[in-house]
Amino acid sequence: MSSRLIIAIDGYSSCGKSTVAKGLARKLGIHYIDSGAMYRAVTLYFLENNIPIPGPEELHDYVYDYSDVLRKINISFQFNPVSGFSEVYLNGRNVENEIRTMEINEQVSHVSAIKSVRAHLVKLQRDSANEGGLVMDGRDIGTTVFPDADLKIFMKADPMVRSERRYKELKSKGIEVLLEDVIQNVVGRDYEDSHREESPLRKAEDAIILDNTYLTHDEQVEFVIEAVRKLALSNSASS
Ligand code: C5P
Repeated sequence: MSSRLIIAIDGYSSCGKSTVAKGLARKLGIHYIDSGAMYRAVTLYFLENNIPIPGPEELHDYVYDYSDVLRKINISFQFNPVSGFSEVYLNGRNVENEIRTMEINEQVSHVSAIKSVRAHLVKLQRDSANEGGLVMDGRDIGTTVFPDADLKIFMKADPMVRSERRYKELKSKGIEVLLEDVIQNVVGRDYEDSHREESPLRKAEDAIILDNTYLTHDEQVEFVIEAVRKLALSNSASS
């Protein structure tokens, strides 16, 4: 294993990728980066500044030049000692909560399908690895961002189970939503994310599948830790 351990966790919406990634990063003492938070922060900027967002049918013939807009967007992460994790900042403002609303959920897959947005964020994501090992979760981490990642996990779970988890999470934050709307959003985002032209969501060939439909949080982290152990063993055997 190289000294710069890179772990890619990809998968469907609301699979609990970030919970597993955080648990893993804490156990291994390495950074965690939520790439979805970056796409969400860009979406928040687009909505706040009335930047046009093409729907999936319009995207093909869309000629809007986003380069000036993207130059004005600064995304960074800052460690919060209370939560123990990094939070996302948009142009110096903490937007960790604002990016988790249904309004953002409804637009983020349209924004993330835009080629120039992806190119911009993939570069930022790659640059973040210069500082050392990390766990990054998203949709294309093992396929596009870090195709040479040391370990790739692909998470999936029954769509109803995922929707119910997301519904409970939103309710616990005081956000009023209907379960039907959450189901529609989760399934709709999966479809859009898997069918877009640029870096669609798909399992990397060398990724290990983690289906967490019936697993507890601890069981999921243990599953991934076990995969890290096996990786360390096979690397020490081959060196
Ligand atoms: O992971 P999360 O649900 O916060 O991601 C929000 C959205 O951002 C996804 O539905 C997807 O459209 C986009 N995304 C992406 N590529 C990533 C991470 C997220 O396209 N690596």
